Amino acid sequence: MRRDHLDWPFFEPRHRELAELLGAWCAEHLHTGHGSDVDAQCRGLVGQLGSAGWLRHAVAGTAHGGAGEAIDTRAICLLRETLAFHHGLADFAFAMQGLGSGAISLAGTPAQRERYLPKVAAGAAIAAFALSEPQAGSDVAALQCATRDDGDAWVLDGEKTWISNGGIADFYVVFARTGEQPGSRGISAFIVDAGTPGFEIAERIDVIAPHPLARLRFSGCRVPRAQQLGAPGEGFKLAMRTLDIFRTSVAAAALGFARRALHEGLQRARARPMFGQRLADFQLTQAKLAQMATTIDSAALLTYRAAWQRDQGRTVTREAAMAKLAATEGAQQVIDAAVQLWGGAGVVHGNVVESLYREIRALRIYEGATEVQQLIIGRDLLKET
Ligand SMILES: Cc1cc2nc3c(=O)[nH]c(=O)nc-3n(C[C@H](O)[C@H](O)[C@H](O)COP(=O)(O)OP(=O)(O)OC[C@H]3O[C@@H](n4cnc5c(N)ncnc54)[C@H](O)[C@@H]3O)c2cc1C
Repeated sequence: MRRDHLDWPFFEPRHRELAELLGAWCAEHLHTGHGSDVDAQCRGLVGQLGSAGWLRHAVAGTAHGGAGEAIDTRAICLLRETLAFHHGLADFAFAMQGLGSGAISLAGTPAQRERYLPKVAAGAAIAAFALSEPQAGSDVAALQCATRDDGDAWVLDGEKTWISNGGIADFYVVFARTGEQPGSRGISAFIVDAGTPGFEIAERIDVIAPHPLARLRFSGCRVPRAQQLGAPGEGFKLAMRTLDIFRTSVAAAALGFARRALHEGLQRARARPMFGQRLADFQLTQAKLAQMATTIDSAALLTYRAAWQRDQGRTVTREAAMAKLAATEGAQQVIDAAVQLWGGAGVVHGNVVESLYREIRALRIYEGATEVQQLIIGRDLLKET
């Protein structure tokens, strides 16, 4: 993977060092392709990433195993870009440790932080983030999972779906209606440990790029008060603050997939004999490669601008939305072009570009679909006087 972009002014020397070290580690430890037992592979990757110290970047607070006091957006973007280049499931394992524990990093009590974050950082506990429901995806404030106050506990009833790490997580940060006020102001967050009575995995969901995913069911599930996360009625804001950290990193993962597709496309174009020349010798091929590289650099500039801006403590609503929109949509086009360069071999199960083609698709949907990002950008523009 070429690393010219590490010279961009968005980065500090520590970022360059991190990316170099991780690149070397990935080349030695990660191999593309999913095994047949995705749960076991994912557990193994979380352990590997934890032992090597990479998961420290996914949590905040050095006292709890974190690499710094706050999550460094440029670091998590470089980590996700590099992991995605080498291994989609490794990127997923890293991202979910961060997303699943992000609300604890942001709003956990000292006891909650002490109990969960060191294990997340060490890869000794697997985290999940449970917000979406069958009737509340893009319109997530419509969520219906309900709670009732029962003295020393909250009692949860309802369902969550599309929950990454569902079935293998050790704990789930669950957002449910507590009814302080209507709509988004009546939602609170809870940490629910796997195995809590009344909590079950209702269904495992099989997706085109396999990773652990499930529908969860809560039936009279008692969650002790000490497991409430953040202030009552503030759960929706907490969910949005968590997603705010990680949205730009989705763009970075897309970038990693796209860079890998360009790498594979270049290799094929150079190697494939055709009409007495090589595929790379045709101007049509060169135009395709040029477009792929330009799409990648445009997405990278938007991604690292958003990451840098967030690390300066500035608002990144518009910039993060632009980065996610451009990088995920652009990566889909770059990967499609790489499949085209590979011809028939590009659609054979197990080919790197074939797995990238499946891997990229969900990134245009989760953590705010492309249309949702467009709305965010449009509304932000219209606020300007
Ligand atoms: C692989 C995968 C992993 C996931 N992991 C998690 C997880 O760990 N935790 C979690 O809580 N959720 C997770 N999700 C859920 C994800 O966040 C939702 O799928 C997403 O928010 C979209 O919701 P939906 O699927 O209900 O689609 P819908 O809300 O029904 O949206 C369908 C489509 O409608 C369009 N659309 C949306 N809004 C508008 C609009 N205003 N105007 C016009 N068109 C619009 C978009 O094209 C969108 O894709 C995951 C999803 C996938 C696919």
